[in-house]
Amino acid sequence: MRAPAAYLYRVDLALPVRPMTLAKEAALDKAMAARTTCPRCRRRYHHVLPLRTLGSCLECHDGTPADPANYTAPPAHTLAA
Ligand SMILES: [Zn+2]
Repeated sequence: MRAPAAYLYRVDLALPVRPMTLAKEAALDKAMAARTTCPRCRRRYHHVLPLRTLGSCLECHDGTPADPANYTAPPAHTLAA
């Protein structure tokens, strides 16, 4: 069996990683928010949700209680009561 190719690079010719811009960070957070926010209860979890198969978090899907340490509660509304 053939060993997988391993490409070697010269460290002395390498350039530093470009610093993350605020716009790039915002775009990444938006993309991650889409994968970690439950569309039904609006909680944002600290892990990626099975949205393709369940379409929601486990608690919304079958009632399995979620540990409050695993999500951030949705923002409260700012309208007058
Ligand atoms: Zn949910």
